[in-house]
Amino acid sequence: MNDLMKEMEIYAAEYDIPIMQKEGIEFFKDLVKGNEIYSILEIGSAIGYSAICLASLDPKIHILTIERDDERYQKAVENIEKSGLKSQIEILHADALECEIEGLFDCIFIDAAKAQYIRFFEKYEKNLKDTGIIVSDNLSFHGYVEHPTDSMSRNLKQLVRKIRNYIDYLKNNEKYDTLFLDKGDGLAISRKKKTNVIE
Ligand code: SAH
Ligand code: MG
Repeated sequence: MNDLMKEMEIYAAEYDIPIMQKEGIEFFKDLVKGNEIYSILEIGSAIGYSAICLASLDPKIHILTIERDDERYQKAVENIEKSGLKSQIEILHADALECEIEGLFDCIFIDAAKAQYIRFFEKYEKNLKDTGIIVSDNLSFHGYVEHPTDSMSRNLKQLVRKIRNYIDYLKNNEKYDTLFLDKGDGLAISRKKKTNVIE
């Protein structure tokens, strides 16, 4: 398993695939262990790195992960096969904004196109258990969100603006409490607020 993880890290570095950073994935693993998370919906599988990492924590953990890119999807299927965790990880080859997912999850992990985070959040919150958490990755975007530079391209500036919008959206979302963490490339953990049911 460690060999496979290493192999995936090397592949990701070589082909510029933004798998979770070490510190981020280590934190995520602790979060999964500490919060009795057994079902995860992941938006953005890439080559299956984070899914394999999390599924290997406990045989009771099940992950449904979605990837739209052909090559990455193929690579993820291969890696999941090699990991021996096929019975715990289901991968869908689809655009997460276009498919419908049924069922409720302990955790929804948003790690796909940064410009679409609000849309992913709004589309998939219906799949979150009341006690569940939504984890969002890359909210620091290599530091550009906190420290933008004049030399950034227009596209990059726009992306940074979108990420800031998402951060504001989470801060202002009254249905959730969100914790922003400076781990890896910046993580947010959103939990549904408990509503007081008045009878
Ligand atoms: N979670 C992975 C990394 C994901 S990188 C890990 O840490 O190992 C982000 C991935 O999201 C990319 O492979 C990209 O192709 C995919 N993606 C982006 N937008 C998507 C969408 N709308 N639907 C499905 N996948 C998407
Ligand atoms: Mg990421």
